[in-house]
Amino acid sequence: MAKRALITGITGQDGAYLSQLLLAKGYEVFGAVRRTASINTWRLSELGIEKDIQFLDFDLLEFSNILRVIEKTAPDEIYNLAAQSFVGTSFEQPIYTGEVDGLAVTRILEAIRLHAKDGIRYYQASTSEMFGKVQETPQRETTPFYPRSPYGVAKVYGHWITVNYREAHGIHASSGILFNHESPMRGTEFVTRKITLGLARIKCGDADKLRLGNLDAKRDWGFAGDYVEGMWQMLQQPQPDDYVLATGETHAVEEFVDLAARSIDMDIEWQGEGPHRVGIELKSGRPIVVVDPAFFRPAEVDLLLGDPRKATEQLGWHRKVSFAQLVEDMAIKDLDRLRSGSLRF
Ligand code: NAP
Ligand code: GDP
Repeated sequence: MAKRALITGITGQDGAYLSQLLLAKGYEVFGAVRRTASINTWRLSELGIEKDIQFLDFDLLEFSNILRVIEKTAPDEIYNLAAQSFVGTSFEQPIYTGEVDGLAVTRILEAIRLHAKDGIRYYQASTSEMFGKVQETPQRETTPFYPRSPYGVAKVYGHWITVNYREAHGIHASSGILFNHESPMRGTEFVTRKITLGLARIKCGDADKLRLGNLDAKRDWGFAGDYVEGMWQMLQQPQPDDYVLATGETHAVEEFVDLAARSIDMDIEWQGEGPHRVGIELKSGRPIVVVDPAFFRPAEVDLLLGDPRKATEQLGWHRKVSFAQLVEDMAIKDLDRLRSGSLRF
């Protein structure tokens, strides 16, 4: 009989890639979606899998709804990917973010505990943002957390409550501490996709400048398609556990801009320092990238660099797509979308 997976956050970047992976493995996939005026399934439709998913109304804020969805779908595996996932917004909506990214994890775990604690395997989407002001480099499973945003703080709660339900109630609950992972399906508010879409718009004459915040921030960026494989591998282990998924490389935002621009034939030369730094397009001599303090964070995470050795050794996980390949794929895809008029987001 086909395994059954319930995915929360199925309309998001990771939800789309994970659905594709599980469908290819023969799973029956149930997609938990919150009601909105018009459900946004563009990612699933771009991957050609929307028709293969059974959708259910779901909201992380409503316990009875979570319980009913679990009863109805009787899943073998639950992947909790739903979240208010943007750090910037978490400074503006800290209470909502705490509810959805923190407390809601307890709602799902409690529903599993009440419903069928022995039968269900649970995946929690933890994050490198929990390391925040990093206490050691590279960061690994044992590195102490020091979150720097309401998002990071809420995710620390979600992480520890997952560990607690595993230890206290014997639930097969695992937590993936995933470093930033990107793709052409990434939300446009995140810096990588903001860069690739922004540069493509400039190239097509639809915009004249890309406004960014801290160009010096460094992230360990991988490809989302590689990371969903690790999520699945975690739930196939006989014992639940926590794993870091990362590339083991870190790159600055400015470097991402350089590579993305080069991928679409727009070389950039940098001038000035700090808030006065400007990226000049060599061909036209125009300033196309400028720093806008509106995008600075009240508290910044300066550098993230993960050590994925545990996942490599115990799960056999490793990333396949290089940083350079990821940037190029994203940049070219956004340019293609604009040129063909197929940009849906
Ligand atoms: P994403 O694209 O922003 O998707 C978030 C999903 O959560 C969307 O489907 C969204 O639905 C749903 N959602 C938000 N609030 C909800 C609510 N109250 N009830 C039900 N669903 C709700 O995020 P992602 O990049 O795929 O990331 C997946 C998970 O991994 C998130 O938990 C994120 O925090 C975590 N994570 C991501 C990264 C990364 O680099 N991508 C790294 C570490 C951890 P709508 O479509 O209706 O908005
Ligand atoms: P995060 O690591 O989850 O916060 O992912 P983001 O893609 O939102 O941000 C990554 C880094 O890029 C952070 O250190 C941001 O401060 C930095 N950054 C610089 N300019 C921007 C910008 O214009 N938008 C966003 N989202 N981040 C920016």
